[in-house]
Amino acid sequence: MTLTLKVLGSSSSGNCGLLIHQDKYYLIDAGFSSRRILQLLKTYRITLSNLSGVFITHEHQDHIVGLKILTKQPHLNFYANFATFSAIKKKHDIKGLWKIFKTGQFFDIDPSLSVKTFPVPHDAAEPVGFLFKTCNYNCAWATDLGHITQDIYQSIMEAQDIVFEANHDEVLVRNHPTRPSYIKERILGPLGHLSNKAAFDFIKNNRGPWKNICLAHLSKDCNSCEIVKQLFQPLANAYGFKLTIVDPTA
Ligand SMILES: [Zn+2]
Ligand SMILES: [Zn+2]
Repeated sequence: MTLTLKVLGSSSSGNCGLLIHQDKYYLIDAGFSSRRILQLLKTYRITLSNLSGVFITHEHQDHIVGLKILTKQPHLNFYANFATFSAIKKKHDIKGLWKIFKTGQFFDIDPSLSVKTFPVPHDAAEPVGFLFKTCNYNCAWATDLGHITQDIYQSIMEAQDIVFEANHDEVLVRNHPTRPSYIKERILGPLGHLSNKAAFDFIKNNRGPWKNICLAHLSKDCNSCEIVKQLFQPLANAYGFKLTIVDPTA
């Protein structure tokens, strides 16, 4: 297998993935300080000079906070759609070599790796998920999903390896003692985040070609690895996929 998708870290306060294709390395989002990203890469013996590019899903801070420093690296390519690029540019003084894609289209990174982007419903300029395709193995990244759409379904169903959102336990969100109600409405709304139950129902009802399912973007205070594991592990056992849960407190 020449394609691997890892999560370096993920929660509501920071997100960064690592795509390994042959001898090339790409980040998906840069939602930690650049210092932290380099620390996380070190565990894979990867340095900044080994990276080839960064794919950006959307402009929320938990996905781009490390971007400013990374864009100073002349050897990196930054992949985003124009709306996301513009939204980032509006708020941050960034440079870098940007490769602008149109959401929904395929583009090739090299002759053996192509990328399909798909729109996701979330309260950002033009948020996307990614489907990374090689001739025999596909990986998908889909987080920050207010709900599941046909576009998400189609892409996820093509991948053996998926990073998927299980953001919150709905009851914990509703009963949270200090969160203002407008934030609760946002999280639970159709442009917010995917609940454990919505993620579970989707996986249970659509038996895809999944070998690895990594659940990510867990809320720190309205979810936990234990809650997610209790819900999903029996399904993983029954369906025969490997379950990974990214600890939001790590
Ligand atoms: Zn977001
Ligand atoms: Zn996010």
